[in-house]
Amino acid sequence: MSFTVDKDGYYGSFGGAYIPEILYANVEALKENYLKLMNEASFQEEFNTLLKDYAGRPTALFYAKRLSEKYSTKIYLKREDLNHTGAHKITNALGQVLLARRMGKTRIIAETGAGQHGVATATVCALFGMKCLVYMGKTDIERQQLNVQKMRMLGAEVVPVTCGNMTLKDATNDAIRDWCCNPKDTFYVIGSTIGPHPYPDMVARFQSVISEEIKKQLQEKEGRDYPDYLIACVGGGSNAAGAFYHYLDNESVKFLVAEAAGKGIDTGMSAATIHLGKEGIIHGCRTLIMQTEDGQIEEPYSISAGLDYPGIGPIHAYIAKEGRSQVFAITDEDTLKAAFELTELEGIIPALESSHALAILQKQSFKPEDIVVINVSGRGDKDMETYIQHFFN
Ligand SMILES: *Cc1c(COP(=O)(O)O)cnc(C)c1O
Repeated sequence: MSFTVDKDGYYGSFGGAYIPEILYANVEALKENYLKLMNEASFQEEFNTLLKDYAGRPTALFYAKRLSEKYSTKIYLKREDLNHTGAHKITNALGQVLLARRMGKTRIIAETGAGQHGVATATVCALFGMKCLVYMGKTDIERQQLNVQKMRMLGAEVVPVTCGNMTLKDATNDAIRDWCCNPKDTFYVIGSTIGPHPYPDMVARFQSVISEEIKKQLQEKEGRDYPDYLIACVGGGSNAAGAFYHYLDNESVKFLVAEAAGKGIDTGMSAATIHLGKEGIIHGCRTLIMQTEDGQIEEPYSISAGLDYPGIGPIHAYIAKEGRSQVFAITDEDTLKAAFELTELEGIIPALESSHALAILQKQSFKPEDIVVINVSGRGDKDMETYIQHFFN
């Protein structure tokens, strides 16, 4: 059985490319060229040099001694929080903007929810002196002022979206609309393993440097290149897909996935797409979606803005369905507990998204000799307001 994408962009029944006619030529050109361009030696060299000297890769693999003692197992943290701009997202932004340049595109657009992907994309556009527009819901603009100001300082135009609930899915719709109007000069940089084929596969490949590094680092530290368990959170699924990528066919590695249960999966206030979602089409691909009986997309909720998406990358819908991954629904409360625990025991303040992954330690037991790797997708600076609120209450 293969967990990689087929030639039409499907993982089992999930994936594909459901796009308006006007974008057909663009998506087709990307599909025809992405692998060829990504595999060119000069692309690889440029990409790897930027990852090293600009983003700060490889990120450390840290043995968390006190956390390991507490859970009586061997826990390593993959420190994606140490990347430039504070999370794994810069890796994907660098990859896609390099690709856009090689395809002769001069104008970059992106969608953003919490603003993390917007900041990563604006950062890379500043680096290359490229025009950058970031679509962002008005509600999100109001609650994520720091990221909005960062994007502006970086020279990007933040375009407020006032349709629907004025959040991520609405911003994505407007970005797609822009792309339809400007198919010739514009490249749409998508922030996760979602969207029409080839985006999910392309993003997974860019992020796969995470598992490439884990293999090398574990070989050095443990004398074998794979863990028994790999743990990651999923919003759209890019940090998890990158951490899993080179282990997809190694069944000795068990994948544990954390999705956002918000106030609880039965409360109507969650983003637990794999637990609650039904098959449908969102933003260009067939996947699991949180939707009402009559197919309207339900507004997701999570304490963590980065996991607050009503869909899920098709690769994760597929590996969960096939039993290749085990999915945990992690509540806001479990998440906060995990965040304070990591901070107290290891001196690392994690992002709220990453804290969902860390909370799996409270749910699953491990053997003392197990090697457990947790992908710490980002740092907690952006979440301090939330932490302060709960710290003093
Ligand atoms: C955006 C984000 C996520 C969620 O996105 P994925 O594509 O699922 O990885 C997770 N962690 C952090 C720190 C983020 O910024």
